[in-house]
Amino acid sequence: MRIDWDSHMGTYRHTCDSCGIEFHGRKNRQYCTEKCKARHNNELAAVRKKKAEKLVHAEREANEILIALSAL
Ligand SMILES: [Zn+2]
Repeated sequence: MRIDWDSHMGTYRHTCDSCGIEFHGRKNRQYCTEKCKARHNNELAAVRKKKAEKLVHAEREANEILIALSAL
C-alpha cells in the first residue's frame, strides 16, 4: 500500500490494495471502492477457509491412521 499527501487536492493519494489503481481519500483508506474492499475481504476469507479445510483434512487422516494402528 502506498500513501502520499497531495497538496493540490488536499487529500491523500493511495494505491488500492485490491485492484492497484490510484485514488484520493482519507489517510486510513485502503480501497478505491466498497466493491474492491469486499473483493479483497472475500479473497482473504477464501484463503482462511482453504487453510481450515486443510487442517480438517489432516486431522481426519491422522484419526484414520490412529484407528488403523489401534486395530493391529
Ligand atoms: Zn480498487
